[in-house]
Parts: sequence; structure tokens; C-alpha cells
Amino acid sequence: MHGSGESIDARATLTMDRSARLMERAMHRLPGGVNSPVRAFRSVGGDPVFMRRGRGSRIFDVDGNSYVDYVMSYGPLVLGHAHASVTEALEKVVRDGTTFGAPTALEVDLAELICEIVPSMEMVRMTNSGTEATMSAIRVARGYTGREGILKFDGNYHGHGDALLVAAGSGVATLGLPDSPGVTKGAAKDTAVLPYNDLEAVARLFEERGEEIAAVILEPVCGNMGCVPPAEGYLEGLRKITQEYGTVLIFDEVMTGFRVARGGAQERYGVIPDMTCLGKIIGGGLPVGAFGGRREIMQQVAPQGTIYQAGTLSGNPLAMTAGLATLRATGEPGFYENLEGLGESWQRGMSDAASESDVPFTINQVGSMVSIFFTEGPVTDFYLAARSDTEAFKDFFWHMLRSGVYLAPSQYEAGFISSAHSEEDLEKTFEAAREWFVTASAGVGRR
Ligand SMILES: *Cc1c(COP(=O)(O)O)cnc(C)c1O
Repeated sequence: MHGSGESIDARATLTMDRSARLMERAMHRLPGGVNSPVRAFRSVGGDPVFMRRGRGSRIFDVDGNSYVDYVMSYGPLVLGHAHASVTEALEKVVRDGTTFGAPTALEVDLAELICEIVPSMEMVRMTNSGTEATMSAIRVARGYTGREGILKFDGNYHGHGDALLVAAGSGVATLGLPDSPGVTKGAAKDTAVLPYNDLEAVARLFEERGEEIAAVILEPVCGNMGCVPPAEGYLEGLRKITQEYGTVLIFDEVMTGFRVARGGAQERYGVIPDMTCLGKIIGGGLPVGAFGGRREIMQQVAPQGTIYQAGTLSGNPLAMTAGLATLRATGEPGFYENLEGLGESWQRGMSDAASESDVPFTINQVGSMVSIFFTEGPVTDFYLAARSDTEAFKDFFWHMLRSGVYLAPSQYEAGFISSAHSEEDLEKTFEAAREWFVTASAGVGRR
């Protein structure tokens, strides 16, 4: 039976002394011991695992334990850890200096490659993170349209910029309330929030005040409430409404770009936004973001236009090199077919394993983005995702970790499969999951 008692046992059976000691030190000098909140394991309890190195689909912690990794740094590592073409390119370029504050050929190369592959992008501006990309894209959309309002969707994450760090209302359009202390009402007041996958709610809001809305921003496949795909016709519907009202449609493809297809969700679903935000994979494991889109819009960005945006390290040679090596590797024949196959295998294998018990579950999968929710499906928006049994997830998480499978320590993070994952890695994962589900069924209902 899996109660909270067994979770503690599960932790105890892994040797994690060095991680524990590092966490103790970290807690003194880093808020919560970490540099990004989800790493702290708050939602599963216990201390985080400190990692030492990675290779392919595996990561190795400071105590010598190894894991099949489904976090993949939350998305960037589509080739797996320490891919030879990335590390070799980096080793070479680093000797020539790491940043110049002057343009380099590498930036032009990566910009050209991105624009060649991502259908909506005619021009691009590099940033250092996805957060900067979405913040800047919103500014550009506002500057371009001369409007102030933006619309986002419940459970969609666009980084931690003030205007976008806004909680969901209920099912109705609400004026946003700040999600975090420190985000002012002023910064959040122009952000409307609606449930994901509800086109009618969008139509109603636009009838009321579509002319005030500069931009609609969304994850075209959600990954930040767990993996939630767009409903049939949803992206097309948003495209139509925004076109009608002269609103800039922004796909935040920081996670989905070069992930759900080489050209992102826009290629996969055949819907072309006005602007696109990228990050994660295009940095190949180094800090990067980018935003771009129609030439007419991007020409408004300084110094070609008047909308200001800048960055000391934007487009730096290291990040450009890792990005180029990664994107080029994704161009190998069969690369995405292989990822797609692994994603489908994962979906089938986990379904089989979970069917061993009467624990309710829903598996969502889009290509190599995967999620298992501990709730009766379907999971199509944040409200439904939030009905998941997070206690069950917690227990499942620790069982998987003990079995050598590293999942994100939250029910609401998608899992990522890389091209370095093998069918063997997946088998190991299913086997561990099956063990948990077999015992978990005995306890379900009594939880
Ligand atoms: C990760 C992510 C971001 C933020 O990117 P950072 O590089 O962490 O700032 C924005 N949007 C989406 C969809 C993301 O997944």
C-alpha cells in the first residue's frame, strides 16, 4: 500500500547523503536551496537530488546513483545529455572568446536556420531566456498595434515577466490578479485570462473588447500544466478571431519549438501565428531565447524600429554554437519519426502498466512530450489537470526515483523523451511503473 509512510521508506533506500549535505549548505545561501523553484522538490516532499553529470538519456547524481532522465533540463536536451556534436562544437568555439558585444557570423547562421525551419518566422531577435522572449514579444505586439490588452490562458506558463505571471480566473474572462507578491496590479491589469481550449470564451471576450487586445499568447501544445494538446480546431479558431480583430497571435513555442515537430506546433498543426517565441532547444542546453515573426512586425524592433529590446549576452557565440549544433542534428533523416515512435511507445507502455490497477489515470502525449495524470480523463485544461491526485503522484515519483527513473518533481510538468532514449530505457520505465501500479491498486480509495 502506498501511503505517505512508504514515501519516506522509498527515500531512505536511496543513498543521498551528499545531496542532503549540499542542500543543507545551499539553504543558507540560495532561497529554498535552488535557482529555480520547481527544482526544490516542494510538491513531492524531501530534498532534491544534486546532479553531477549526464550522458545520453542518463543522469548521475553526486552520490553515484544513475537515472533514466525524463526531465532533460525541462526540455532543451532533445539530443540527450552531452551529445558529441554539441560538446565538440562548444570546445572548439570557447577558445576564441565567449562574447564580444559585436555581431558574429554565428548569430546570422542561427537566425537563418530558424527562419528556414519555423514557418511564421521571417526575422528573429535572440535573447538569453524564454522569459525575455515572451516579455519582449508582448512589448512588440503592444507597440505594433498601439493597444494594451493581452489575453493568456489558464495554466499556460510564459516565463516570469510581470504581465504574464497572472493566475487564472474561473471559467469567465476576468481581469487578471497578480500571481505573485511583487507583481503590481498595474502590471497585471491589462492581462485577461481564459480557460485553455475554450474557443467560445475567446469569441465572447473579443466581441466585448477585441479592439483593445494587442496580443493573444498561448502554448500551442501546453507543457506547463502537464502535457495538454490543443483541441481540434482550437488553434485555427484563435487564428481566425485574431485576424478579424487585428490582434497579434503569439505562439509561445519555447517548449514546443523543435520538439513536437522540427518547425514546432505551427508546423505540426498547420496554423501560422504572427509571432513566435522560442527558447530551450534552440540553445542546445545553454541559456537562450528568441522571438520573431512577420517582417512587418519585427521591423518595429530597435534599432530598425522604435520598440526597445536589448541584451549584453544576447546571441553570444557559445549559445549560438550549441543551438546550431542541436538544430542541425534534428535535421537528420528520420529524427522526428524516431522521437514520435518513442513517444507512442511510452504512451502504450505506460498505459499497459497503469492498467494493472484501478488507480485512475490519463496519459497525454504529443510526440516526445508526455504526461501521466492521476485522474479520470480527459485532461484538456488546467481545471481538469488540477483534479489529479497529487498524493498518488508524490508516491509514484519516489518509487520511480528509487527505481532509477528521474521524473520532474511535479504533477504539472511534462516529461521529455530525447533522441538518446532507447526502447530499453522505456522498458525499464514501464517495469518500474508496473511495480508501483500493482501495489497501488490495493490502497486506492483508502487514500
Ligand atoms: C520554459 C518556458 C518559458 C520560460 O523560459 P525560460 O528560459 O525558463 O525563461 C516560457 N514559455 C514556455 C512555454 C516555457 O516552457
